[in-house]
Amino acid sequence: MENTNYLSFNKYPKVFPKEVLFPIWLTDVDKLELDDSVLCYGKGKSYGDVCLNENRTLIDTTNLNHIIGFDDDTGIIKCEAGITLKEILEFTVPKGWFLPVTPGTKFITLGGAVANDVHGKNHHTAGTFGSHVTEIELLRSDKVTYKCSKKDNKELFAATIGGLGLTGFIKTVEFQLIKIETPFMYVESIKFDNLDAFFDLNEESEKLFPYTVSWVDCSTKGKKMGKGIYMRGRHATKAEVNKSFEMKDGALPFPIEASFINNFTVKAFNKLFYGKQFSKLSTQIVPFEPYFYPLDMIDGWEKAYGKNGFLQHQFVLPYENCRKNMHLIFEEIVNSGMSSFLTVLKSFGKAESPGILSFPKEGITLAIDYRMEGEKTLRLLDRIDKIVAENNGSLYPGKDARMSREHFHQFYPNFEEFLKYKDPNFSSSFYRRIK
Ligand SMILES: Cc1cc2nc3c(=O)[nH]c(=O)nc-3n(C[C@H](O)[C@H](O)[C@H](O)COP(=O)(O)OP(=O)(O)OC[C@H]3O[C@@H](n4cnc5c(N)ncnc54)[C@H](O)[C@@H]3O)c2cc1C
Repeated sequence: MENTNYLSFNKYPKVFPKEVLFPIWLTDVDKLELDDSVLCYGKGKSYGDVCLNENRTLIDTTNLNHIIGFDDDTGIIKCEAGITLKEILEFTVPKGWFLPVTPGTKFITLGGAVANDVHGKNHHTAGTFGSHVTEIELLRSDKVTYKCSKKDNKELFAATIGGLGLTGFIKTVEFQLIKIETPFMYVESIKFDNLDAFFDLNEESEKLFPYTVSWVDCSTKGKKMGKGIYMRGRHATKAEVNKSFEMKDGALPFPIEASFINNFTVKAFNKLFYGKQFSKLSTQIVPFEPYFYPLDMIDGWEKAYGKNGFLQHQFVLPYENCRKNMHLIFEEIVNSGMSSFLTVLKSFGKAESPGILSFPKEGITLAIDYRMEGEKTLRLLDRIDKIVAENNGSLYPGKDARMSREHFHQFYPNFEEFLKYKDPNFSSSFYRRIK
């Protein structure tokens, strides 16, 4: 029978494993039979097929959710890889420690954070999650557990960070947390009128704030194309929190019903969202959750795209000719009439990614959601890929279900090098599609 519990977040493609294994303890992991096309599955929050293994074996890692060690003096923590970022934060935040890098949801596992080498709003100051990992314990199908770090098995370490689950079973991860004074954020939200204004604001904000991100409107043509809201922030100090008596919830300004999303609702959403701010700049002290995880606060928002699911498409374009290329891509999106519901624009800094296949590189990255409407959606994304490919950009495998093999090999020229460290018995639907 088809096991619909093991799809990816966007429910596309709909492919199913033949069987699912559930190790309960870390000691069970060593006894797993890893002899025929297996893949670890965390929380399935990837968009696409990196976490899928059609008609083969998945290993659900989520019972392995224990903290193994924590040093309150140094902020070094070691956990089993199936623990979620939410569970880690619940343990560390009350002690004044925070994740060094976090994606836009806390419902992912630590193993997933490493395997996709996830990035957050602070890429320009902190690089990717993998840059903060000090050690990984990796079980391979030869039944040996390898301790990997910048010193030991360093090639395997670099292959496993951003390695899309293909180098083996990540059993444990040790990484460095960052110190925070409060669990609150100081956030400035600024309206901007178009794409050029975004670029200007971003240049200024990156110098001032460790966290930056923008929500952009993809349905307006002309001079207002790419208008949006820029949110820049930092961890708030005790003095700032004490001074602030107006701690408002910074979550999305209205509840999204899991109804059909069409152009009308996209426009309505954008109007409501931009209408939230009456002045150009607003300053707030907010709990960390609505700033980092606004979508986590809307249960089941992804179901709004309907039963065919949706595609998320995230690319990065290097700075050279970036304004021009971003305009071209926005024109494609706006003219297609297939407005993205949520569009996130932000920059990646200079930090070199630690993984052989890590996605981030310096430039501007755009993440777009599209309801899956078959050929129409796929053709639009192909046109965008072409612009990305012609301009030395790249696509994020963790959010991909359809990039071509040719493009993957162009975007990831170190793939041949990576294959030296791939475990022969680990595979995925993504891998078989692009290899
Ligand atoms: C709302 C939302 C916002 C997001 N925002 C961001 C963002 O800002 N930045 C970003 O980078 N990503 C973002 N993502 C994507 C998400 O962070 C990544 O796809 C992440 O890898 C998902 O982790 P997971 O635990 O769900 O792993 P899964 O999706 O289950 O698996 C992802 C990969 O990790 C591998 N894997 C998992 N556990 C192990 C293990 N123990 N050993 C070996 N391999 C393993 C799997 O084989 C697979 O290849 C977002 C996703 C959502 C839904």
